[in-house]
Amino acid sequence: VAKGAGKNQWRRYQSHLHGAMVERLELRSALDHAVNEGHFLLQYQPIVSLVTDEAVGFEALVRWHHPARGVIAPDQFIEVAEESGLIVPMGRWVLDQALHTVAQWRRILPRTRQPYVSVNVSVRQFREAGFVEQVRASLEFAGVPPQALMLEITETLLMGDDEHIWSDLEILRDLGVRIAIDDFGTGYSSLGYLRQRPIDVLKIDKMFIDDMVADDQQFALVRGIVSLAQNLNLTVVAEGIEDANHRAILAQLGCPLGQGYYYSSPLDATEALTWLRNPQPIAA
Ligand code: C2E
Ligand code: MG
Ligand code: MG
Ligand code: MG
Repeated sequence: VAKGAGKNQWRRYQSHLHGAMVERLELRSALDHAVNEGHFLLQYQPIVSLVTDEAVGFEALVRWHHPARGVIAPDQFIEVAEESGLIVPMGRWVLDQALHTVAQWRRILPRTRQPYVSVNVSVRQFREAGFVEQVRASLEFAGVPPQALMLEITETLLMGDDEHIWSDLEILRDLGVRIAIDDFGTGYSSLGYLRQRPIDVLKIDKMFIDDMVADDQQFALVRGIVSLAQNLNLTVVAEGIEDANHRAILAQLGCPLGQGYYYSSPLDATEALTWLRNPQPIAA
């Protein structure tokens, strides 16, 4: 009996695996189709000064607009996009679209309030030959200065310590593009790289912000990151600010910038422009 049960379990396991594989293949071919048809859209979440409560930039966040299934969040497809290489053409679209949008905003807004756009880039895109040239060409085509662009790279993905990627980042930064380390604190990497590498911004992962209120050690970590950044002349963006308390604690610590649902969820381009023109009064 035991043997039979084991066999059944094995079969169920195999068919589960098979199902997952089929699902992944289907996802991949649907994604391939979406890339060819341009079924994506970008939303923009304000990056806000914790001193003035005004937006200094916006993070561009991709969504898959599936004709039948509606709007699909990136955690449902980015991984498959990376594995399959589809992230490369998708990422090219994201960059062009984000720069096109920021160019429009900058034409409309006064000189003193010109926002930048922050674009998530996968390491896979950097491995593609000609990435630096592509960024340069996209900036030129959109007609915006390099200062209008920030690139976000997740810390975990940099742990391979690919010299080629770092040298590309160096070139882009010399142009004036800002470089941010995304999900900072989740990568368990040594901190030494922060000193030598072309980095402008650390984005503190929202996990730390969530936990800092109830957990003294987590709070100490956030405080440590903010002061480390100050000493290294880096800027900090706290992710996942969800309430006035988060904002107050971070402002108190001297964290210069933040983003989160407390200020705004990700918005369509036109909503973002409205938000920029009439900064929301924040009830503190
Ligand atoms: P991320 O770059 O760390 O982006 C922050 C995520 O946190 C976004 O999720 C944003 O909507 C969400 N968020 C913002 N404020 C809050 C808050 O107050 N509370 C909570 N709980 N969440 C908040 P989203 O848009 O689902 O994106 C998830 C991830 O997908 C991103 O994490 C990024 O790693 C990836 N991603 C998004 N767009 C792109 C893209 O164009 N290219 C690449 N390679 N990755 C992307
Ligand atoms: Mg990001
Ligand atoms: Mg992040
Ligand atoms: Mg993240």
